[in-house]
Amino acid sequence: MTENLNRGGKSAGRGGDAGDAPSLAMLMGFAAMPAALSEKMIGAQFRAVDRMVVLRIALGLISIAFVLILYWDNAPLWLLGLWSVTSLVSIVPPLRAFLSRRACNYEGLPRNQLWLHAVGMVLQGMLWAGPMLLLAPHGGVLQVASLWTMTTCLLAAVAMGFHATPLAACLFLTVAGGASVSMMLRGGSEELAITVASFSLLMLLATLRQARQFGRQITTDRQLAEKRETVSLLLGEHDDARNDWLWQIDTARRLVGVTSAFARIAGTDAAAIEGKSLLELLAGPAWESGQFDPALHTLAAKIKGREAFANLILPVEVKGARRWWELSASPRLDEHGAFLGFRGVGADVTTQRETEERFTQLARFDQLTQLPNRLHLTEALEQAVEAMTRWNTRSAFLMIDLDRFKSVNDTLGHHIGDRLLAQVAERLRAVCGSMAFCGRLGGDEFAVLIPEIRDATEIEQLSAGIIEHLSQPYEVEHHTLFVGASIGSATGPRDGGTADELIRSADLAMYRAKEEGGGRHFAYITSLHVEAEERRKMEIALRGAIENDELRLEYQPVVHSQSGDLDGFEALLRWHHADFGEVPPSKFLRIAEEARLITALDSWVLKTACEEAVRWPVVLGLSVNLSPELLWDADLIPALEQLLQRTGLDPARLELEVTETVFTRDGAEAVRKLEQVAALGIGLSLDDFGTGYSSLGCLARTRFRTIKIDRSFVAGAAEGQEEHVAILNALIALANSLGIETTAEGVETEREVELVRRVGCTRLQGYYLGRSMRVEDVRRLFARNSRPNAA
Ligand code: C2E
Ligand code: CA
Ligand code: CA
Repeated sequence: MTENLNRGGKSAGRGGDAGDAPSLAMLMGFAAMPAALSEKMIGAQFRAVDRMVVLRIALGLISIAFVLILYWDNAPLWLLGLWSVTSLVSIVPPLRAFLSRRACNYEGLPRNQLWLHAVGMVLQGMLWAGPMLLLAPHGGVLQVASLWTMTTCLLAAVAMGFHATPLAACLFLTVAGGASVSMMLRGGSEELAITVASFSLLMLLATLRQARQFGRQITTDRQLAEKRETVSLLLGEHDDARNDWLWQIDTARRLVGVTSAFARIAGTDAAAIEGKSLLELLAGPAWESGQFDPALHTLAAKIKGREAFANLILPVEVKGARRWWELSASPRLDEHGAFLGFRGVGADVTTQRETEERFTQLARFDQLTQLPNRLHLTEALEQAVEAMTRWNTRSAFLMIDLDRFKSVNDTLGHHIGDRLLAQVAERLRAVCGSMAFCGRLGGDEFAVLIPEIRDATEIEQLSAGIIEHLSQPYEVEHHTLFVGASIGSATGPRDGGTADELIRSADLAMYRAKEEGGGRHFAYITSLHVEAEERRKMEIALRGAIENDELRLEYQPVVHSQSGDLDGFEALLRWHHADFGEVPPSKFLRIAEEARLITALDSWVLKTACEEAVRWPVVLGLSVNLSPELLWDADLIPALEQLLQRTGLDPARLELEVTETVFTRDGAEAVRKLEQVAALGIGLSLDDFGTGYSSLGCLARTRFRTIKIDRSFVAGAAEGQEEHVAILNALIALANSLGIETTAEGVETEREVELVRRVGCTRLQGYYLGRSMRVEDVRRLFARNSRPNAA
């Protein structure tokens, strides 16, 4: 837009020197004017002339009266009468011409109008010459002097009033001037004749000069008007849809030259705000209260400092609605560099601003829960960290992960899962209140920021509150759902000096809280970092474990409950690493799962265990743990077929142990996969029964050959926990009726053996019956006992 302004200004400047002003010949109608010019020019010429019409008539009448009085006594009456009547009649044609010009509003006047007008003036000149030539001889010196005085008035009046039509004016001056000269000559005064001639010539020259000036003036005006039109078109002042405008203030910051576009956008009319203070207009109702937007302060400071500014966005109130204006301006200076005020542009950017706000809302808030999202949380944390370093305060970051959410989502669907998350968010918001800033990181992970902690117990209290509230049952579409929460917290600057470090520390603490079984809060400790580092190294080491021959299998005996005879073995994976030593399976299997190494490990276990089992007496079974990942492997079924074929192992001897977590991803697909496994003749066993979320439901989904009852259940029942005993009884009765075997896991004491035997478990496994054995020991066992009988 500034470019447009410049262009407008430059052209107007060029218009000022009127390089294309009409020549005298054009003004006289002898040469054609450029079309664009002629249209306006001839009209303007006549307008200028016609402004004098009343004066002209008055002057004519006065002149007639004057002549009549002057020569009433000296001249013959008929001559006076004839002259007066002719003079009076001669007023009529110019008057009619005047009326017709006015009727057509001075538009489309042809060039010959100038000539006709000139002819009229010549006739008028001649009429005025009449008394000087015809009547002067009848009078004396007084009359001549009076007549000449009157003539000079007329000459001057024509020179002044008719310069716009120079042809007419000059002809009149020539005729009337010529007549005066001749009157003086006839009166015998050559000196006076020369004086009169000089005066007439002077008037003539003045007329021509004025005429040119007039031509120039009209041209400039026209060009300026055109420029104004162009600028206003460019600024879209005629376009109601445009939302930008030009504005200007004087040294006292008052608006000057308010455009219609500006007024329209300000919701008023130009006259109402012309001369009003810009700041007052922008401040609106706040002007009284003095509660200005910071942007208005910036604007005031810029104006005060006479500094240019660009794209300053400020809120304004237009007809009670909040709008956003963007202003840019620079100081106005005159040619001497004196400050005149400011000139600039403005634009209503409300729509853009609202769109931006909507995008910000989308970009910074989680749409499901309406809580701040990861980006927003991170920003808030960054601010807290900044404040922390500046003011030497402490802030805390809590990471919350829901326990068992995944199984809700997987069993009941995402729709229910989403509604559950929304309720979780609501509760979280309520618990945090105004003391903490909470948000959702994604999935079932939430976070809370306490920007400034005053007291060390604050984190512990808030965590306890969150866990307690989030663990209450939820009602979602007639389902009663239970989820828990695990929280990890980090306190800055102790646990991290940057947002990233704090997030990482809180994450590690949360990981630990989960590892400890969930439903609890764990504050970051330095060793977690060490552990995380160890996990990372372990992961690298684990990748090479198979090739480096660091893995081995141990076999834990499973015996018949009643007879105590050996039924088979469960293959359990062991990892020995040169640096880490013997790593417990709970630890390395978790790492393997996270690093997606578990499928390779499980395949290795399956292969190794099957190869081993064919050496055993054929009555013994082999149980192998199968991770959900391997079940999902597309090659599992062909690999199993191939393995059975290659080793010659009877599939009936093989049992694959899965936990209910296999159903959590895609239940129907899991069932299909398990059925394919069963179709090979391989038995399926449901491992860790009693630890999960809805284990009984699993039994209905596919035909398990065995249920392995988790150690915690067995121990609980043996300790006399009533409901454990009851459930155990019911479960075993159910399993027996369905023809499903039951294995009690982790049997450690005689008492436990007694109990599980009594309730009717078909098989037992546990330290009391035998720990897992090295493969050599198993082999030795069979070498010693031709008829195996372990118990
Ligand atoms: P699991 O399938 O429930 O295996 C039984 C676990 O209980 C074994 O622990 C075993 O040593 C332990 N155990 C047996 N009897 C007793 C007892 O009387 N008291 C106690 N306290 N524990 C007993 P382990 O070998 O540490 O294995 C832990 C888990 O690791 C296994 O639990 C299984 O889920 C997984 N796992 C082991 N090997 C493999 C494998 O080759 N592949 C897969 N995917 N998972 C495996
Ligand atoms: Ca197992
Ligand atoms: Ca188990």
